[in-house]
Amino acid sequence: MQYVSTRAGKGSAAAPRSFSEILLEGLAPDGGLYLPIEYPQVTGAELDAWRKLSYADLAFELLKKFATDIPEADLKALAHKTYTAEVYCNARQPEDAPQITPLYPLESVGGKTLILQALSNGPTLAFKDMAMQLLGNLFEYALAKQKAELNIFGATSGDTGSSAEYAMRGKKGIRVFMLSPHQKMSAFQTAQMFSLPDENIYNIAVEGVFDDCQDMVKAASNDLAFKAKQKIGTVNSINWARVVAQVVYYFRGYLSATTSNEQKVSFTVPSGNFGNICAGHIARMMGLPIDKLVVATNENDVLDEFFRTGVYRVRKSAETFHTSSPSMDISKASNFERFIYDLTGRDGDRVRALFGKIDTHGGFDLSGQSGSDGDEFKQVGQFGFESGKSVHTDRLQTIRDVYAKYGVMIDTHTADGVKVAREHAQPGVPMIVLETALAAKFNETIQEALGKDAPRPAGFENIEAQPQRFDVMPVDAEKMKAYIAARTGL
Ligand SMILES: *Cc1c(COP(=O)(O)O)cnc(C)c1O
Repeated sequence: MQYVSTRAGKGSAAAPRSFSEILLEGLAPDGGLYLPIEYPQVTGAELDAWRKLSYADLAFELLKKFATDIPEADLKALAHKTYTAEVYCNARQPEDAPQITPLYPLESVGGKTLILQALSNGPTLAFKDMAMQLLGNLFEYALAKQKAELNIFGATSGDTGSSAEYAMRGKKGIRVFMLSPHQKMSAFQTAQMFSLPDENIYNIAVEGVFDDCQDMVKAASNDLAFKAKQKIGTVNSINWARVVAQVVYYFRGYLSATTSNEQKVSFTVPSGNFGNICAGHIARMMGLPIDKLVVATNENDVLDEFFRTGVYRVRKSAETFHTSSPSMDISKASNFERFIYDLTGRDGDRVRALFGKIDTHGGFDLSGQSGSDGDEFKQVGQFGFESGKSVHTDRLQTIRDVYAKYGVMIDTHTADGVKVAREHAQPGVPMIVLETALAAKFNETIQEALGKDAPRPAGFENIEAQPQRFDVMPVDAEKMKAYIAARTGL
């Protein structure tokens, strides 16, 4: 299996690359994102055989199709090390932990069935653990083979940073330098990150806002000499291995919700950077019988706008709303380019031109209206995509309703998903809503909706009281570079 950049056009000299070669990379050198030259296909016989598999064995079967340059025995060991009941131990019903992503049926109204797929049972109580835990083990494996080391440098406003730290803690050959805005994360999120005792984890609280943190990371990445000397890498959502890890739970959800391959299901996915639902698109392209893929956004509706109109218009950071589903507060969707590549018939030249227009014109228009950049929007339906939007009052109402009717407490992001899923469910096709975080992470809004606290999984009861390790730093990219160099000794 070989990989190409979404911006490699007809005359591109860039040679296709292997899974291991792109594992430690973010963007391709031409600024595009990596995708397989063609999607591996699954047969009905494979799906039948996979129904009985454990999550780890299913992950192995899928990884095998994408990571063809890693020996199968090693992949199997990595999958089994990653997907264990001990790591994904925060299930609603503790006995469900071995399923890794258990399904919880919510309602069946007029033949419309809604099912929750729990993806948030990992160490940081958000779906990002599903992929990040595998990434940590893959990185450690690859670095040991190459006798190399890696210094991960990133910025976070919450979920990504803690998920990366829990995945990389204690890993040989890896250090994590994570910037966050000083005193601007919730007490719970701060405690999750800052209470980690591991020597290879460095928390840096920046005296600024999240954008300042991101600018400091960009400054270091643009300093190519620094980046090479300090062996700087990233773990952001465009990393291909993260997308592959997410493909697995779409298969698991489908296989658990059906009994025969004649049946279809749909998925609704609370979306920000289009990473999670991009994996659903890939599962569908591989032949998994998915009917609809429904994008659910919050007030930051860049994606809903595209799937309604064909116009992709990125927002300025000042136009980005701070909402009660903060992990979906994005101004542009960094994985969206992967879908546009498929939508344009895998035309790298066109993708490069369209995404170039984001810098010059703030976006592009595929609606087919006069003056637009193309008419591919009319093909969106063939890919199963639909979309919807949910706002703060919808979230409160949905959290209350689901709790009152089913006794199930959902978080704010999942509430956006349930709200939109109810608008798109069709009789006879189960609608699976991906649960992207546990309610305990966003307790303020749970309090507002229900007037009570979300239950905390065992081990999280007193997390705010644990000792914290972090350094405070001004908004100063040079100081930050010196901080890293002093700790890597490189
Ligand atoms: C990151 C995140 C999302 C958005 O996922 P994308 O892959 O960026 O679309 C949704 N919900 C939660 C809780 C998250 O942490």
